[in-house]
Amino acid sequence: MTKSKAEPDTVEAHARAKVRRDERALRRGLTLGRAFGEFLRHPSPWMIATTLVGAVIGRVVVGDWQTSDLLVPAVMLAFFPVFEWIVHVTVLHWRPRRLGPIALDSELARKHREHHVDPRNIPLIFIPTKTLSALIVVLIASAAFAFPRLGLGLTFLITITLLGLGYEWTHYLVHTDYKPKGSLYRAVWRNHRHHHYKNEHYWFTVTTSGTADRLFGTYPDPASTETSPTARNLHSA
Ligand SMILES: [Zn+2]
Ligand SMILES: [Zn+2]
Repeated sequence: MTKSKAEPDTVEAHARAKVRRDERALRRGLTLGRAFGEFLRHPSPWMIATTLVGAVIGRVVVGDWQTSDLLVPAVMLAFFPVFEWIVHVTVLHWRPRRLGPIALDSELARKHREHHVDPRNIPLIFIPTKTLSALIVVLIASAAFAFPRLGLGLTFLITITLLGLGYEWTHYLVHTDYKPKGSLYRAVWRNHRHHHYKNEHYWFTVTTSGTADRLFGTYPDPASTETSPTARNLHSA
C-alpha cells in the first residue's frame, strides 16, 4: 500500500502539531529579555516612563534639595503595599451597581474583571490607557500644586512613577510564562497566582507577598483554603 501524499487532513494536522511544538518551545525559553521586549510593546510602560523622565529633568532643574526629598519617597515606599491592597480591594474588585438609571462602575473595575476572566491576555494586565492618562494628569497637577514646594512635588512624581513601573512590570511578569528563579520573586509570583487561580478573596498585594495581606488578614494557608468558584468571574455568585 502506498501512502497518499498531501492529504489535506494530514497536512493540516501536521501544521497544527508544529504550531503547538513552537508554542511549547517559546514558553520553555521565555527569557527575561524576551519578556521585557513584549512589555515594551504596550502603551502603559511608555506613558509612565515618559512622565518619569519629565519629572527627573524638572527635579534636576529646580534643585532645592532638602531632607524631605528622602523622607517622602521612604514613606511612600513603606506604604505602597497597603496602598496597593486598598486599591485592589475597593477599586478593582468594586461590585458594579446601579443608582437608579446610573451605572456605578469604572474602567479599572471592568478591565480587572476581564483580567480575572482571562489572566493570560496581555493587554488586560496593564493599567487601562484611558484611566492611566487621566491619572497622569492628576499626578502632574498634584506635583505642581499640592506640595509646599515644587521640588518636593517632583520628588513625589518621580517616586510614584517608579512605583508604577515596578507594579506594571511585576504584574506583567507574573502572568507570563517566565518561571520564577529567586525566592523573593517566587513568593510574589505565588501570591498573585493564588489570587487568580485559588481564591480571589485573598492575596491582594501584587508586588510583595505577606506584607499588607498579613496585616489585613488576607494571607491564609493555601493548603487549607478552598478554591473559589468565582475566581474567574468576580461577583458572579
Ligand atoms: Zn493579575
Ligand atoms: Zn483581583
